[in-house]
Formats: sequence, structure tokens, C-alpha cells
Amino acid sequence: MVLNIISNQALRRPNTQLAQSAGLALGQSGGIKTDERMATSVPSVYAAGDCIETYDLITRRHVFFQLSTTAIRQALVAGINAAGGSARYPGSTGVTTVKLFDLEVASFGATTTLAEKLGIQPISVRVTGSTRLPYYPGGKDLTVKLLADPKDGRLLGAQLVGEEGATLRANFASMAGALGLTVAEFEQIETCYSPPVAPVWDPVTIAAQALLRRLQTSQAKSSHLATVES
Ligand SMILES: Cc1cc2nc3c(=O)[nH]c(=O)nc-3n(C[C@H](O)[C@H](O)[C@H](O)COP(=O)(O)OP(=O)(O)OC[C@H]3O[C@@H](n4cnc5c(N)ncnc54)[C@H](O)[C@@H]3O)c2cc1C
Repeated sequence: MVLNIISNQALRRPNTQLAQSAGLALGQSGGIKTDERMATSVPSVYAAGDCIETYDLITRRHVFFQLSTTAIRQALVAGINAAGGSARYPGSTGVTTVKLFDLEVASFGATTTLAEKLGIQPISVRVTGSTRLPYYPGGKDLTVKLLADPKDGRLLGAQLVGEEGATLRANFASMAGALGLTVAEFEQIETCYSPPVAPVWDPVTIAAQALLRRLQTSQAKSSHLATVES
């Protein structure tokens, strides 16, 4: 049942008939087009939420996110501007989470499939770490997949699955994505440690270290190939 709800949610397409009949311009994705102030193409008409297309800070394209978090922030900005104030909504990383039975499943940014559809051949790693040090009781496995764009080393996305700790780590990785950090920069960010709550090397950091090594190997191979070819 949960999976049905998720797949239904993922397949939803916005009904923009009312907007179209009011003369509002739609974007290439088919959603209502707005600027950063959430203003539509019709003066004094603002739009927010599932019916609009949202700027994806990671893939740098306009897409449908259809998330409460996105809708609420956009609505706040639309309301402020409609009331004569000044606010802007820069875009979203699509950070999201869901609880599936005992598992937290959280993510931000692009998946491998989405990145490939957009013409990016991402480099990725998947590692499983623990939410505590091995000697401390109660630690849970946390599997982390991280993706990077080999062209500039930028963090492209993260997917996390585990019984605990996936959601806040997705927020943490999403912030790095929103700031446009490279994997090398992300890997340098220290995380807190205390035996009852967090390990010295966080599973996300371990994944970032592995991804950085993979990126460096790929870059070394490419430059070696270029040297041989020339
Ligand atoms: C099952 C499910 C679970 C979800 N879980 C999450 C989650 O955990 N986290 C998350 O971030 N997002 C979640 N979402 C997505 C989230 O609910 C939506 O992205 C968000 O509600 C969009 O807000 P909105 O204001 O654009 O649209 P809505 O919340 O759908 O509001 C639109 C409103 O307009 C009204 N309306 C429609 N037509 C008319 C009309 N002609 N005249 C007057 N009123 C009209 C509707 O009745 C409704 O009240 C979930 C969605 C579903 C379906």
C-alpha cells in the first residue's frame, strides 16, 4: 500500500487548465512558469506548489518536485510578494524522506537514472556504515549512495537507507549540494562524534572519501588517455 501511494505520488502530473485559461504561461516541463518571486507571466498573479515548475539547484533545470517542503516555502514567498513585500525562492534540491516499515529512505538531487537521462555520466559509490562505533551497542547499518559529476567533481545527489539517521544526513548532504560543493570540499566537513550518538567517521563521510578516490582514479585515467592519444 505504501509503495502504491509513493508510485501514485511520483506519477502525478499537475492540472494547469485553470492557469492556462487565465492566460498564465507554462514552462517547458508543462508546469506554471514563475520567477524567483513566484510571480507568473500575468501581473499580480503568483503561483506556488504542485502546479508550478521548480528550479532544481542540482541539475539546474526546471522540474516538478511536488513536495510539501517546496510548496510551503514557495507559498511563503508568493504571499510576501503579493502583499507588497520582497522575498525570493532560489530553488530546491528535492530533498525528501519517507518511512518504509522500519526503514528511513531519504535522498536529495539526482539518481543515476535521472543524471544519465540529463546527459551526465555520474560517478557513484555505495557504502554501508554504522550509526555508532562497532563497540557501542545499538548502532544500525546505514547504506549511503553518493553521486558526483566527473566533469567538475560536484556532488550530484545522495540516497540513504537505514533504520535510523538517514533523514538528517540527507539534509546535511542536501545543504552541500545546494551550496554547489565538490566531493573534495564535502569530504572535508567534520561531523560530530560521541559513542552513544554518532561514529567518528560518519557513513556519509566514508562514502564521500570513497567517491573522491573514485573521482581521482577516473580523472587520472582520463588524463593518461589524453596523453597517450596526443
Ligand atoms: C499521499 C501523499 C503523501 C505525501 N507525503 C508527502 C511528504 O511526506 N512530504 C512531502 O514533502 N510531500 C508529500 N506529499 C506531497 C505534498 O502533499 C504536496 O506536494 C503539497 O501538498 C502540494 O501543495 P499544494 O498547495 O500545491 O497542493 P495541495 O496541498 O494539493 O492543495 C491544493 C488545494 O486546492 C484545492 N483545490 C483544487 N482545485 C480547486 C478548485 N478548482 N477550487 C478551489 N480549490 C481547489 C484542493 O482541494 C486543495 O486543498 C504527499 C502527497 C501525497 C498525495
